[in-house]
Amino acid sequence: MAVNVRYTRYLVFALVGLTFFYFMSRTNLQLPNAASFPRPAQTYKDFKANQDQRSGANATERVNATFVTLARNSDLWDMVKSIRTVEDRFNRDYNYDWVFLNDQEFDEEFKKLTTALVSGKTHYGLIPKEHWSYPDWIDQDKAAEARQEMDRKKIIYGGSESYRHMCRYESGFFFRHPLMMNYEYYWRVEPSIELFCDIRADPFRFMKENDKKYSFVISLYEYEATIPSLWDSVKKFMQNHPEHISEDNAMEFISDNGGETYNKCHFWSNFEIGSLEWLRSKQYIDYFESLDQDGGFFYERWGDAPVHSIAAATMLRKDQIQFFHDIAYYHVPFTHCPNDEKTRLDLRCSCKPKDNFDWRDYSCTNKWFKVNHLEKPNGWD
Ligand code: GDP
Ligand code: MN
Repeated sequence: MAVNVRYTRYLVFALVGLTFFYFMSRTNLQLPNAASFPRPAQTYKDFKANQDQRSGANATERVNATFVTLARNSDLWDMVKSIRTVEDRFNRDYNYDWVFLNDQEFDEEFKKLTTALVSGKTHYGLIPKEHWSYPDWIDQDKAAEARQEMDRKKIIYGGSESYRHMCRYESGFFFRHPLMMNYEYYWRVEPSIELFCDIRADPFRFMKENDKKYSFVISLYEYEATIPSLWDSVKKFMQNHPEHISEDNAMEFISDNGGETYNKCHFWSNFEIGSLEWLRSKQYIDYFESLDQDGGFFYERWGDAPVHSIAAATMLRKDQIQFFHDIAYYHVPFTHCPNDEKTRLDLRCSCKPKDNFDWRDYSCTNKWFKVNHLEKPNGWD
């Protein structure tokens, strides 16, 4: 009796075992073995292959676009920070190119380090002398006096000659540097900026697919003392070139009285994603050349921010200007941070919502929302 029970037990074990292996073979299930477990990348070569696969997937969808930075060699370490933040939050998945421009030759250290950090191709350009010097119609003594006077009045950058060349270059020339001519869109990045949220979708692609020409994340009022005659110059241009003024433009954003005076609102141009083809258009070049003739880049201290903003607000349709509220950004001293908690969590943001500048008194973004009848996003007070 005891013997029989023992054998029966073995028989049951054997049957169960056989059935198990039969079903395993029928259903293609496999017993785990070392080779079938996913394993972390072991070698540099494996890792590199993964990276290439990732960028390859996106590369086919890329737009013809580049990052662009105007910088001095001495800006290297502040620039390294900016590149790191742009790569970590966005470009590591897209590998867009990066063009660096300078009025002097970039040194080897600048090129070596920035090339190591940028995931796309890097290009380094010297600015031609005639784009960074006085045009012949400028009275240089008068310009020097203006600088002294503005310095005495403690106007920011009022005494600086190089800052004026920089503003004029950003207003009228960077987009026609030979290195920029093959691209359709640009994203301007300055030293020491920060991006606080992941950027998952490609803003370049968004711009192209939606016929956007200019974009911003922060807007504010310009210092009157830097642009006393800018609006007169703009009005002269508008009278001479009514054909360049767009219907359904954003004039309401920059003027509270139908174009009579400038309210000093402008998009903060240290961040810009925009269309190079628009900046290279006859419309924009006529505008820049008309302003340039009036000399305010040197006799006053016109910034490229009001110059670009006024162009966008008068010569584009207002729906061609994009406010990117999901791109969280810092350039000293202002922050743009989404107030909406869900956005901040989804995009792994690291900014403090209390720091958001958008609805403060000195910001013009409220006005932008009014002019466009936009509803403020969730959680925005
Ligand atoms: P701010 O943001 O108005 O305070 O001005 P920045 O000092 O940041 O200058 C604006 C941009 O122009 C930055 O990208 C600077 O690196 C760049 N920049 C300013 N001055 C010069 C200059 O003299 N030469 C070059 N190559 N770049 C400059
Ligand atoms: Mn700056």
